[in-house]
Amino acid sequence: ADGSISGAVGVYEDASRQRELRESEERFRALTENASDLCVVIDAAGTVRYASPSNQHVLGREPGQTVGRGFPDWVHADDLTGVHKAYATMRRSAGSTVRFTFRCQHANGGWLWLDAVATNLLDNPAVAGLVINARDVTDRQQAEDALRQQALHDALTGLPNRTLLQDRLEQALLAGGREGRAVAVLMLDLDRFKEVNDTFGHHSGDLLLRQVAARLQRALRKSDTVARMGGDEFSVLLTAFRDATEVVRTVDKIRVALERPFPVDGRVLHIAASIGLALYPEHAQDAETLLRLADVAMYGAKRAGGGYQLYDEHDEHTSNHATLAAELRQAIEQGELALDYQPKVRFATGTDARVEALVRWHHPRLGLLAPDRFVPLAEQTGLIRPLTRWVLDDALRQCCAWHAAGLRISVAVNLSVHNLQDPHFVALVRSLIRRSQVEPSWLRVEITESVLMADPVQASHTISGLQALGLRLSIDDFGTGYSSLSYLTRLPVDEVKIDKSFVAGMASNQNDAIIVRSTIDLAHNLGLKAVAEGVESQHVWDMLAGLGCDSAQGYYMGRPMPPPELEEWVRESPWGLRRTAPAGAGRRDGSAR
Ligand code: C2E
Ligand code: CA
Ligand code: CA
Repeated sequence: ADGSISGAVGVYEDASRQRELRESEERFRALTENASDLCVVIDAAGTVRYASPSNQHVLGREPGQTVGRGFPDWVHADDLTGVHKAYATMRRSAGSTVRFTFRCQHANGGWLWLDAVATNLLDNPAVAGLVINARDVTDRQQAEDALRQQALHDALTGLPNRTLLQDRLEQALLAGGREGRAVAVLMLDLDRFKEVNDTFGHHSGDLLLRQVAARLQRALRKSDTVARMGGDEFSVLLTAFRDATEVVRTVDKIRVALERPFPVDGRVLHIAASIGLALYPEHAQDAETLLRLADVAMYGAKRAGGGYQLYDEHDEHTSNHATLAAELRQAIEQGELALDYQPKVRFATGTDARVEALVRWHHPRLGLLAPDRFVPLAEQTGLIRPLTRWVLDDALRQCCAWHAAGLRISVAVNLSVHNLQDPHFVALVRSLIRRSQVEPSWLRVEITESVLMADPVQASHTISGLQALGLRLSIDDFGTGYSSLSYLTRLPVDEVKIDKSFVAGMASNQNDAIIVRSTIDLAHNLGLKAVAEGVESQHVWDMLAGLGCDSAQGYYMGRPMPPPELEEWVRESPWGLRRTAPAGAGRRDGSAR
């Protein structure tokens, strides 16, 4: 009786094992054959035993051409180590999974980036192999490479940008400190460049800047770094020199290089530069201060009518910067600041409008100043706190007035890194909101990506505080820094603004177009809305609409405007509180007027 029972159990076990096997085989087939992802199964020796049909369209090879070959046959030489390492890790224990990215050769000779997840199913009788599922991520990889290059270089001249220069300067200071060597920082600003721009147009200005960049590079040694700091400002980092006379000789070489006239668009332009110089360890110990002192010296040179100047303590107190900073303090108190509002237009129609507040300074002597002229100054001098306070206060007051007048407009305000590092900032915002009686969800703050990366701990602290107040948050200038997206997703943001440098270029530049497209996709995958900045043409608007972008901002739809003009825009413009789609879809009702 015992035997028959165990016999019956044995038969039963066999049948159930068979069924399990069949099921798992079916599951496996369903997993591999329906997916557009690649699937290959390799045995313990690394030979391909199975290749899914998708191999054909992803890699251009029939499964039959793949089976029987060694898996690494198509892996890029530079990625072999990584692949072998992943392989070894996975081999160690049954059921374990590893993830790796590598380049794989297409039958046509080109290379694809594949993102692979491999699972050790050697123990699983239905599979008896290592299962590799891989996905083509070439587009993403290209976009990331482009972003990385873009983040550290200036797009116009190809020179390193401020971030990269600062980084190299910090390295140089560390090495200099260790080896007892001096470091020189040179700040160079073209004289009367603005006139070139205004007279001959930006195109000529750009051509000139490119030539200046090329000549600077030729005048210097490979070991020196030339960077474009923005506008017509360049900086040079000198590390390998014997003494001060050698630095002076380099400065002379630069001046000689710029003396020859520049042929630009059929004209011959003469341009000179003002150069400021600061030295480590003589003038300062850290990168930020050195750059600032070189800047002070440069302004000194400019005031003196060109040429070059070595930093002199006396300069700092008389520099333009210092005067402007003192004036800014008063300007905030005396009402010389004003906010313009620029519309952020949704691609879908809506019954409320969104605007971004942008600060301006109506300077009594210098006229209208753009924020780039005084916001950095406010940041350097601690005036950013009263400035932001003023901006928030004024924006909330305006928002309240609009709502009272029946205009449903929400306002976004820009914050600076210092605001996020200010432990009292959240309390300040809370009291301003309470006083204004504006519903907090009508207020949004925009924070640039680089700011978030500068001091992530304090930044995320402040950000959580702002979110708790009920504010909305946007990441500004996305793409200009190289933030980790996984970090960004941990923040309570709901909107990403794609930097205007990419949007402006997307119609003519493939790289920019890839960045814009993949940023929109990434934003959507992360559950965020995407806003494109700097839309200047119908063409770009149409492209963005095609990519599923959520909103757009730019001169094409509306420039930053003072409140009365903005109100008119909201009421009258086809992009305003519209009841119709801009392309002329049917009117829903006319109550906006
Ligand atoms: P942002 O936040 O990226 O603001 C957008 C800038 O792009 C604005 O320059 C706007 O006038 C400009 N812009 C808008 N549409 C277009 C377009 O189609 N083409 C081009 N080429 N430009 C366009 P603006 O007003 O000069 O502001 C410059 C920056 O100053 C802002 O960049 C922002 O970072 C900062 N800023 C402005 N207001 C404030 C403020 O109240 N506080 C702080 N901390 N920063 C501010
Ligand atoms: Ca902004
Ligand atoms: Ca921006």
